[in-house]
Parts: sequence; C-alpha cells; structure tokens
Amino acid sequence: MPVAYNKRTHYCGDLRACDVGKAVTLAGWVNSSRDHGGMTFVDVRDHTGKSQLRFTSSHGEAHDVAQSLHNEDVIAITGTVLSRGEWVNPKIPTGEVEVEVAEIERLSECDPLPFQVNEDFEANEDLCLKYRFLHLRRPEAQEKLRLRHRIGRAIREYFHEHNFVEIETPFLTKSTPEGARDYLVPSRVRAGTFYALPQSPQIFKQLFMIAGFDRYAQIVRCFRDEDLRADRQPEFTQLDMEMAFVQRDDVMGAVEGCVQRIFKEGLGVDVEIPFPRMTEHEAMERYGTDRPDTRFGMELSDITDLAKETEFSVFRDAIAAGGVVKCLVAKGGADKLTRKITDGYTEQIRGIGGSGLPLVKVGQGDGGVEFATGVAKFVQPIAAQICDKAGAEAGDTIFFMPGTYADVCKYLDNLRGWLAKDLDLIPADKWNLLWVIDFPLLVWDEEEQRWFSTHHPFTAPLDEDMYLLDTDPGKVRDKAYDLVLNGIEMAGGSIRIHRRDVQNKIFRLLGIGEEEAKAKFEFLLDALRFGAPPHGGIAFGFDRWAMMLTKSESLREVIAYPKTQRATCPLTGAPSEVSPAQLDELFLSVKPLPKKDGK
Ligand code: ASP
Repeated sequence: MPVAYNKRTHYCGDLRACDVGKAVTLAGWVNSSRDHGGMTFVDVRDHTGKSQLRFTSSHGEAHDVAQSLHNEDVIAITGTVLSRGEWVNPKIPTGEVEVEVAEIERLSECDPLPFQVNEDFEANEDLCLKYRFLHLRRPEAQEKLRLRHRIGRAIREYFHEHNFVEIETPFLTKSTPEGARDYLVPSRVRAGTFYALPQSPQIFKQLFMIAGFDRYAQIVRCFRDEDLRADRQPEFTQLDMEMAFVQRDDVMGAVEGCVQRIFKEGLGVDVEIPFPRMTEHEAMERYGTDRPDTRFGMELSDITDLAKETEFSVFRDAIAAGGVVKCLVAKGGADKLTRKITDGYTEQIRGIGGSGLPLVKVGQGDGGVEFATGVAKFVQPIAAQICDKAGAEAGDTIFFMPGTYADVCKYLDNLRGWLAKDLDLIPADKWNLLWVIDFPLLVWDEEEQRWFSTHHPFTAPLDEDMYLLDTDPGKVRDKAYDLVLNGIEMAGGSIRIHRRDVQNKIFRLLGIGEEEAKAKFEFLLDALRFGAPPHGGIAFGFDRWAMMLTKSESLREVIAYPKTQRATCPLTGAPSEVSPAQLDELFLSVKPLPKKDGK
C-alpha cells in the first residue's frame, strides 16, 4: 500500500507519551523485528532514534508485509500512537509509546547483510570500510560525524565573527613546503608535467596577506604521501588561518578563543584561557619531548654531574662521548612494577633503538636509602644524592638512561608514557592545553650534513637571535608556536618572514640554491618584493580535534570515507590501475613492478 513518505509527520526518535492518539507517518530502516504469532513488533530507525511498531491481524495486509520484513529494509508506515502501558521500555526515549500500523509500504528491500547494523559487534575494519554506508547507519558511528560537523560550524562561526574571510585555494598546484612526499597529478594538456596536491595552503595564505585580505581562515583538505601510522591519513582536513600585522600573541589569542568555542560546542566544557606556555627547551628538559603530556608529573631529572662520579662504565662512557644521564622516578614502582613489566619496558626500549634500561628499586636501610636489584651496586655510592635530586624515596623505582641528549629524551619520553598507563597516572576527563614556543629555527641532519627547518622555511627567527644566523645558526630560535593537548600536537604555526633578504638568507642556510628557490617558490619570493606586511598564522589538524573530542581511537572514525593503513579505500577500490588509453593520453607508462619474495 503506498504511503506518503514525503509527508512524514515525525522522525522515528520523536514520539512521546503526549503523542498518544495521534495519526502518524514514519519512514526509516527496519532495525529488528519480533514475530509473536498474531502480533508482530518491528523497530523502525532513522537518524534520530527508533520507534516500536505493532502489527496486528486487524490490519491483515500490513501484518503480512511485516512478517516478511528483513533487517535494513526501508519502510514507510501510517498508524496511531498508543501507550505501551506496563510494557514501557525506559532505555529509549520513545519507550512509553508504540505505533499501531494501519498501512505499510516497503520502499526498498535489503539483501543479506555483511554485518548486522543493529549490533555493537565490530566487524573487521576492511569490511566496515567497504560497506561504510552501512557502518554509518549505526548511531554511534553517525554521531561522530555529526559532532565533527558541529565543531566545524563552531569554528566557522568564530572566525566569521572575528572578520576572517574564507577563501578557497587550489588543489592542482605546485609542491608546498611541508617536507612530506607530494601526491602528483599528471597534466594531459602539458604532457610530461605534473601538478602536486597541496600539503597545505601555506604559500597561498601568505599571498592573501600580501594581497591585503588581513585575516583568512579556511577548513581545507591537504594531502601528504607519508607512511601511515595509526593517527595519519593521506588526505586530511586542516583549519588553516593567517593574519596580517600581528605578533605571536595575537595569533595565539585568536586560536585560544577558537579552541574555547570548540570545547564548549563539542563537549560543553569551559577551558581557561590563556593557555600555559613553555619553551621547547624547557619541554625537552622536563619531559624529553616538545609535546609533553602535562596531565601528570613524573618529570625527567638530569643526573649527569652525579653519574660522572661513579665507576659505572655505562654512565661514564656515555658522558665521555658528550652525552648525558637522566632518570625517571616511578612512585611506588618497587611494588607495582613487577619484573615482567620492567623487562617488557627494556624490550620496548630495544624495539625503538635503545640498548637497555638500567633501573634500581629504592629501599630504606639503617644508614639511609638503599638501592636494590638492577644496577644497584654501581650507583649505591651516589644513592642519597640521586634520590635528593630526583625526589625519590623508599618504595620507588628509578629508571636511568645514559646516551646522547636526543636518545635519552626519546627513550624516557616513551617510558614516561608506558609508566603513566601502567601506574594509572592519567586523570580522566582532563584537558591540558599548552603552547610550546621558541623552537630551534633549524635542525642539523647528520646523515645529510645539512640544516633543515624545524617547521618550514618561511618561519621567522626571533628578533633577538637574528645576529646568530651568520655565526651560530643552530642557536637561533624561531617565532613558531605549537598547541599541544594531552601530549598530542593539535596545531602548529608561526610568524612568517616578510622580508626577501631574510628569506633568501634562510634558503641559503638550508642549502636551497637560487635556482632551486626560484623554481620552487618564485611566486612567493616575487610577492615579497611588492610590499609584504608582517604576518603569521597557524593550522589545526581538524580530524584530530574531532578524534579527541569524540574520544575515538582512530582518525578513521571521524572521517566519512577514510583510507586504510595501506592508503587504500575498500569502498571505491582506490587506488586502482588505469586503462592503457588513459596512460597513452598522458604520455605515461608504468614500469614493471619489482618482484616480491623472489617470485
Ligand atoms: N602550514 C603549516 C602546516 O600545515 C601550518 C602553518 O605554519 O600555518 O603545518
């Protein structure tokens, strides 16, 4: 029987006790059905929730259809709202009522399902992505994208209220300076040449400032061809913004207001502004990382001076080679961290390139603190001083790390994370936002024997460090700022270089010759000649914000059609081969693939 589904009176999640007696039209998917002989119950679901439908033999035709329904068939019904009386279901908002159906139309029939939509059971991820439209019918999956939408809307409203202009930038463009591998798109019209998909709109947004737009913000897709880790996607969304005639504080202030709005909209949480700030140097010293999780303490202690005094060759050799010795104190670790757990840490440290993890347990003897197990006998002579410096006491475990500064930071930062989990140090529902500033402008790459930018080559040096550019470039700090949330980098940006002489100097330091600079960034260098205002900006990983606020485990949960870890899309089958005719048109040919496993 045809039902006017375009004249729905309610959504499936709308009906309440006050609707009893009303004639209604609903449409949606069959969530489940139960046949009780003369009576059939069907739950019909749409994006707002579900309602119970009751089919009785008094409407024989409708009852017959109900008995033949499959889960996920699409139906429309008309009927009357009844009270469920004593059969109220308090678990769902529509649980006080049901609809006695007079007429039903099956609008579409569903084949056997690859996985049930109405169950929580997580099917294998490839299958969920192949049938992503089915997976997205699940209310929890859909709610993540709806929250993402609300965050996006809050961001847009915020920037709109603050006079930012949203302008689109090209996707078919030239290499941008973020340092990852580009996705290339061959040009047919100029065969043999390629566009690059943008890794960020960096140069275009700087040009907007030179053009006089003053404030720009865009929610934009970016592309980076990197090896994928759990929290990376080859195409991802950034909130990208830029402001003219500003200093760092101005950009950071604008971001703080926006982040406040995101938290309010996403979680109903008020975050305090301004966010604390920490220099990169302090973050490395205290936490071993430039994106510290400050929700818990357990900071690193430098005991290089004390370690020098021991006979312990592992410490002495590291120091003689120019390295340091630092330690981490796990409070109460002597009891809580079993041998199995600490052996596990040693293995994990080896897994990321380290050689071991010396440790001691702290006890109390007659003559003061006494170290036990591990490397106790080597460090006992300086036990009291170590405990004093690192704040350790009886019952704690101390982990030592000798080596180069960078290695020590890396291993202890990782260890700090493992310990926080195992010792349950991370408080629930705590949102620690932190600005990290004053990064080194350049980092030296031993292998390539050259400087690289810590951020990108358009980042301005701190004014007070400019004089070091010629004499000691490694000591120059920059005007960058990274926003860290619970140990995860959520946004990064900087004040830019707006003078061509400074920009050229930085290119020279980076070993980018005039020819190369011209080839890659001529359009920016050119623009710097024609009146560039001081400017700066930032980009937020929008997907990552959505992931954090929806408390998702992976970025894939907050992206409608994400790629797998192998950068494939099970839904569309991308990437895929193309026809010889398409290749011919582009004057391209595909080389034979290298053989795997000698086959
Ligand atoms: N373009 C930078 C990035 O994508 C952000 C910025 O400097 O504004 O990381």
